Amino acid sequence: MRQPLVAGNWKMNGSARSIELLLDGIKGSLASVGRAEVAVCPPYVYIPMVAELLQDTEVALGSQNLSQHQSGAYTGEIAASMLLDFGCRYAIVGHSERRTLYGEDDALVAAKYAAARAAGLRPILCVGEILEEREQGVTEDVVARQLDAVIELEGIEALADGVIAYEPVWAIGTGKTASPQQAQDVHAFIRQRIASRSGAVAEQVRILYGGSVKAANAADLFAMPDIDGGLIGGASLDAGEFIAICQAAP
Ligand code: PEP
Repeated sequence: MRQPLVAGNWKMNGSARSIELLLDGIKGSLASVGRAEVAVCPPYVYIPMVAELLQDTEVALGSQNLSQHQSGAYTGEIAASMLLDFGCRYAIVGHSERRTLYGEDDALVAAKYAAARAAGLRPILCVGEILEEREQGVTEDVVARQLDAVIELEGIEALADGVIAYEPVWAIGTGKTASPQQAQDVHAFIRQRIASRSGAVAEQVRILYGGSVKAANAADLFAMPDIDGGLIGGASLDAGEFIAICQAAP
């Protein structure tokens, strides 16, 4: 049985002081979280500090991005091995903000997925359609293309130890959430597509939902059979809200 994962993507938010307070709040309530694995993805510079503050907890650490390269003359970039040095377990790749604001295409996202795995990190691959694509009825085509880029580069087995996050772009930071059934339909599509190549990998891979998840809607989303937790943006910056989302994971 897949263990649910609830991961907070803090994006470019916080300060040393606010992060300390946020982690105090999260740590103080961790005992109330059931079966879910909890992870946080701070901005790069705070990763060492967060690693230290989380030392005696089960909370996993992740990055929001990474370089596709191992090392070298790539000014401003961060390599997977560096993230591993500071205790990261996860690395988000292909977040829609990276795709739209920084021009990351499927090939680059797949290369980042490969770089994370090669170093021993578990990539969290974000996929999802924009509103026009949903309205045109091409959601499945878009998600399949984004997924296939990784499968073609790395092979189907590469998904087994990774995580997929279905994040409809129209639901990210907008307050609009996909209905549990809308999300489940796409999650089921993703799992079936993987199952057509490997039933074992399809059973194992965790598929998170992301897009305006809050304490108020988390339980209904997480109750769907192919939703294995969530990638949480705005609501992960509020300890009470984030913990309530974690508690909602069955
Ligand atoms: C995200 O950025 O991954 C996300 C899901 O954001 P939000 O929860 O704020 O919609």
